[in-house]
This record gives sequence, structure tokens and C-alpha cells, in this order.
Amino acid sequence: MSRFLASRYSGLEAYTPGEQPRDRRYVKLNTNESPFPPSPAVIAAADAEKGALNLYPDPTCLRLKEAAAKTYGELSRALGGGEITPDMVTVGNGSDELLAFAVLAFFTERGAAFPAVGYGFYPVFCSLFGAAYDELPMKGEFEVDLPALADSPRNILLANPNAQTGVYLPLSDIRKLLSANKDRLVLIDEAYCDFGGESAVSLLGEFDNLLVVTTLSKSRQLAGGRIGLAFSGREIVLDLEKIRYSFNPYALDRAAIAAGAAALLDGEYFDMTRTAVIGQRERMKEELLALGFTVSPSSANFVLARHPALSGEKIYEGLKARGVLVRYLGGRLSGYVRITVGSREDTDALLAAARDVCKEAKI
Ligand SMILES: *Cc1c(COP(=O)(O)O)cnc(C)c1O
Repeated sequence: MSRFLASRYSGLEAYTPGEQPRDRRYVKLNTNESPFPPSPAVIAAADAEKGALNLYPDPTCLRLKEAAAKTYGELSRALGGGEITPDMVTVGNGSDELLAFAVLAFFTERGAAFPAVGYGFYPVFCSLFGAAYDELPMKGEFEVDLPALADSPRNILLANPNAQTGVYLPLSDIRKLLSANKDRLVLIDEAYCDFGGESAVSLLGEFDNLLVVTTLSKSRQLAGGRIGLAFSGREIVLDLEKIRYSFNPYALDRAAIAAGAAALLDGEYFDMTRTAVIGQRERMKEELLALGFTVSPSSANFVLARHPALSGEKIYEGLKARGVLVRYLGGRLSGYVRITVGSREDTDALLAAARDVCKEAKI
């Protein structure tokens, strides 16, 4: 720490992203990326922007907002919800940026409540921006304590499906949270919703205290493109836009805007890839259970797993030595590893390595 750092940041504990090692090739199952490349349409759309990199991108990101409104509008109507118009959407450099803006805009006075097992960035954003927060203990191993969340006086930050367990809360539960106190903002982070949940965008017509944030990093092959979306009523969206324009109006580059729009409109590739991931998830769960692991009932593109005879760190190290990289989260989750669901070949490699780790430990 230099002597110039503002004292209020001296105790700040930054978020630790998953490792991106360069020492060898791993079967990379540690950061919940898609195992598939972007679709050909997405690559072509990004390529077409290269010749215009001398010009600033569109600060309104209209093309991306229109694509998001169209795709999520269809999703909303299929779930019985209303239209989504482009003025109900804002965009960010990854959903992490939108979550940061949301904490800054809406959580610094009332504070935040979130489940103790959830996305590791929430407490970091709260600390960075000086928002008070309550981490509510889980009920049992994988269950969010909904009544405690509903009773909290703070605004709510909830990843659904949960960011570490993958457990999905049905929309009826989200509706209860939204109704419990209409004067509190409820932010639902749907980074993993495409792998087995119903999106709360379908509730936007009913509740003006709802903000839904999602990302193109997990289910749309664009973790490297850094594209996040937020959906809400016009007023909340304008508040977020105010913060966005006060910070960096050009946060999304030309290639990202074009690639993001193309990815949102390529429904066929989206369905094909997420169906493949869901299939491998179910296979992975089944086979890990057969090896004696406990596996979270995940609706996401990862599972949280532990083994009664091995620590989380041992599993992580054993798999890494065999070329398979998973996430060891430590802390409250030191018994576990979080394993991203990849392609069929990735699952083959993970299961072979897991069998070998068990064999070596004489399990
Ligand atoms: C991955 C993830 C994000 C961040 O997504 P980016 O768009 O890549 O910044 C946000 N929330 C949750 C719960 C995530 O798992």
C-alpha cells in the first residue's frame, strides 16, 4: 500500500477472480465460461467493426438495447409477462459493472441484504462504496433463508440461481420477496438463469421495485466481450444511466456492442449450446454422486460438490495435478469445489480425474 491511498480503502478486500493460468493447458472448469466459441454470426459482427475503431462507439448502445429488448421481451411474454422496450434496458461493461453501479445508486443509503453463500462480489462492492450489508445465514446446506431476506430492512441483492450452489428459487418466491416490501429495491442477478430458471423480467410489469441484471458471459459465449444487461422500469434505468454517463459513456466498445446484439439474436445457437451444457450437468451430477460426492441441486452451468473423505482443497489439488482446473472457494465453502459444466469431452476428463483422485485416496 502506498502512502497515497485514501485511508478508507486501506482495509478493502478486493474480489479474487478465478485463476487464468498460462503454465499449461487445463480443462478449464473454474470460472463458469461457456465451453463453446461464439457463434459464427457473432464473430462476423465483431469483425465488421474493426475498420471503424478510430471512431468512438455509440454511447447509447442502441443496437444492443434493441436486441436485448426483443429477446427478453419474447421471453417475458412466453412467461406471461409484458413487453420489454429498449428504454427498459441499460448495458454495462460486464454485469459486474452494472452491479457496481446499482450498489452505488441504490444501496449506499439503505444498505444491502444477501445470502451468506452467494456472489463474492456483493460484499466487495458494498465495501468499496460504503454500503452497509447483512450476510444472512443459509438454512441447511444449500437453502436460502427467504423469510429472513423478506424481513430485512435493507434492499435485496440476490443471485438466482445462486452463484455458488446453483440452486434456483422459483418466480413464486421472487414474487413474495417483491411483495413483502414494495419500498425496498430487489435486485435479481440472473447470470445463470438460462440454464434452468425462469427470468424475473416477466415480473417487471407487476413490480416497480424490481431490477434484473444479467450477463452474456455465461450462456452466450461472451465472457471475453464484457457485456452485461439490466432490465427495470424506466426510472430505475434512467438512474443507472445517470451513473453510467457520469463514469464512462463508452464502456462498451464497438465489437462488444455488435457481438452482444448478434449473440442475443442468434437464438438457435443459444438453445443448442445451453441444451448441451444442461445435458452434461445432469450427467456430471449423476456420476459424481456415484463416486460418493454430495452435489448441489444446481440449475446453473456449474455444481458445488464435496466428498465426505476429502477436503475441498485436496479435491482441487488432485484435479489440478491431473490437468482439470476447478474453483476452490475456501472460507465458508472450504469443504467444497465448484465445478463448471463444460463440453462432453470436458466432463469425460473431469470424471476420469475425479475417479483417479478417489482411487489414490483409497476411497
Ligand atoms: C459471472 C457472474 C457475474 C459477472 O458477469 P460479467 O458479466 O462477466 O461481469 C455476475 N453475477 C454473477 C452471479 C456471476 O456469476
